[in-house]
Amino acid sequence: MLEDWLAPKAAALESRGLTRRLRPRAAGEVLIDLAGNDYLGLARDPRVVEAAVAAVREWGAGATASRLVTGTTALHAELESELASYTGHEAGLVFSSGYLANLGVVTALGGPGTLLVSDEHVHASIVDACRLSRSRVEVVPHNDVDAIGKALAERNEPQAVVLVESVYSVLGDAAPLAELSAVCSEHRAALLVDEAHGLGVTGAGRGSVAAAGLAGLDHVIVTMTLSKSLASQGGVVLGPALLREHLVNRARPFIFDTGLNPAACAAALAALRILADEPNRPEAIHTTAARLATACGVAPSAGAVVSVPMPGPREAVRAAELCFENGVRVGSFRPPSVPDGISRLRLTAHAGLSSDELDHACEVIIAAVREVS
Ligand code: PMP
Repeated sequence: MLEDWLAPKAAALESRGLTRRLRPRAAGEVLIDLAGNDYLGLARDPRVVEAAVAAVREWGAGATASRLVTGTTALHAELESELASYTGHEAGLVFSSGYLANLGVVTALGGPGTLLVSDEHVHASIVDACRLSRSRVEVVPHNDVDAIGKALAERNEPQAVVLVESVYSVLGDAAPLAELSAVCSEHRAALLVDEAHGLGVTGAGRGSVAAAGLAGLDHVIVTMTLSKSLASQGGVVLGPALLREHLVNRARPFIFDTGLNPAACAAALAALRILADEPNRPEAIHTTAARLATACGVAPSAGAVVSVPMPGPREAVRAAELCFENGVRVGSFRPPSVPDGISRLRLTAHAGLSSDELDHACEVIIAAVREVS
């Protein structure tokens, strides 16, 4: 039965060059990594690894239940308070992933009385959250503050939330946060900024919202993943304490999900402390991103993501394969993962790459792009 149902779908994807395949990493694999999101190179830092191991020994292999039952440990509480104070917010609430953090906050604020105004390029987790929210949703052109102002001004709903990312995950460009905050204040709307690609990268690590002086404002909400710069797993919603209380009571992806694994909590906490103690760490990301963008002749990135447009999906996959064969792992992104429909190589700059590694990576990428174009 499933054969008849799914085989034509698989064939249709294949014919358009859009089939996705899992490639397990081999243990001990030696590649220059420009595809992963371990921006600060902390996933294998002994301090982070040891913190995770110690947490398993102390708390066990799992959180044992949802957060409101037995799944909140002292580690969760510490992580929430340190994330909030590092980023300048009153309070934080940790979820099992960044995806669930977005789903939780948007659905808990959404509903028939809330208009959601979403930038057209936001992450899939925000798109899905909008769909689940039962709100009216207006999708506006990328970074179009006037369109947002118009949607907010013309609404009938008493509440509204504007949904953006600080650094966009595929294009690597930035949101105009000061203007967005002003337009939200003017129209009594909340501003939700996904800083998945800002934490540990922009604002000397504290993110773009903190850098713009917007952290702690009454209408500003931030979500972050703990899986990129903090090298672990999990997500967080940051904002006023009243918002945190609302989420504890209303966010279904928080209430009905098992608490974040204690090992992941401890690893994120250790990584956060390293980031706080070493504020120069993010600088290397920007230097590397600038070198990659210049070498590939593309626009500079606001963060770690350097986006190299390719002629089509097959070329993107082939170029990534050529890079892999020459010791460099890069991402190949195709529809539906690309907001503008343009397939591309997605390079993520990491702190900790040597100058020689970077030179070699640039040579390999340029040769691969030339060969397939
Ligand atoms: N938001 C953005 C912008 C992301 O890039 C990601 C990660 N792919 C997420 C949310 C989801 O975070 P997580 O992987 O922790 O679920």
